[in-house]
Amino acid sequence: MTTAPVAVARPPVVASPGARPSVAEILAAGVRSYSFEFFPPRTEKGERLLWEAVRRVEAVHPSFVSVTYGAGGSSRARTVHVTRRIAEETTLRPVAHLTAVGHDVAELRRIIGAYADAGIRDILALRGDPPGDPRGTWTPHPRGLRHAADLVRLIRTCGDFSIGVAAFPERHPRSGSWDDDIRHFTAKCRAGADYALTQMFFRAEDYLRLRDRLLAAGCDTPVIPAIMPATDVRQIRRFAELSDATFPDDLAARLDAARHDPALAHRIGVDHATGLAQTLLEAEAPGLHYITLNHSTAALDIHGRLRLPGAPQPHTPPG
Ligand code: FAD
Repeated sequence: MTTAPVAVARPPVVASPGARPSVAEILAAGVRSYSFEFFPPRTEKGERLLWEAVRRVEAVHPSFVSVTYGAGGSSRARTVHVTRRIAEETTLRPVAHLTAVGHDVAELRRIIGAYADAGIRDILALRGDPPGDPRGTWTPHPRGLRHAADLVRLIRTCGDFSIGVAAFPERHPRSGSWDDDIRHFTAKCRAGADYALTQMFFRAEDYLRLRDRLLAAGCDTPVIPAIMPATDVRQIRRFAELSDATFPDDLAARLDAARHDPALAHRIGVDHATGLAQTLLEAEAPGLHYITLNHSTAALDIHGRLRLPGAPQPHTPPG
């Protein structure tokens, strides 16, 4: 494991006049960041649900919203489209996820350029998973990039972006060891990442242990924990399996018992996530990133129940 301090040459952090500050600027100013994650929908109905959720989230003035990048094909164009619309038609600051999967370097440059043209200055730089089988062997595009750190470096050469990367409270499932995981994470920070967003997790101690490991490795890059409201046991189990996140047995048992009572399941999931979020904020997490799955209700319920200095005093719009 590396013990050298992570020193990164970054452009000076100066809030752009008149613009919403970038995620890097918010965190560098020591302000907590509250954000919501969306995905690009496939259908017209999905599109309608997304925009309803975006508008409800807009009312609580989050620090930013992020839009995930599809595994391939048309979903990628939809990511660019949705992110651009958020930048152009709302007061929100969008963060565009971008992966290296299936792209050569010239294509990646074009996508980054398209974001810059739309005024988008925040990118979450990810390697992505092997298409088809996320657990398969990772093979980079022959003229593409191998690791997320390479994408961070590429984005840095393309302009003055605020760059986030992924962090894994239970370590990346394909990392050989914790030492490897921490070494590769700090390499992303050295390459120029300003902050990280975590994979979903359900136990505060997983996040706190990761933070301790990073600090022990000399890395103090802010790591914003993801909050996934577990209100639908079958769906969450599937996501947790896909991401290798440990889903606590007691929470699963309570949700199982409530599977015919959606209102009770909602309350159980929101209670658990609120407790987790509160613990993380009290432990000085630099913010919270809510995974919404394009349904804002649970995330806004959690956010509305948090009462800490540094938190905007949110209200949940009716409806
Ligand atoms: P990397 O940092 O490149 O790491 C991947 C693996 O390679 C790790 O095991 C790491 O230890 C290892 N590694 C890194 N560098 C080296 C090296 N130099 N030598 C050897 N091994 C190395 N996927 C999507 O398709 N779209 C999304 O929008 C998306 N959003 C995400 C958002 C968040 C917050 C998170 C946590 C994940 C997201 N993912 C998304 C999933 C992500 O793409 C996968 O988890 C992927 O497997 C890892 O991506 P990474 O950026 O962490 O890759």
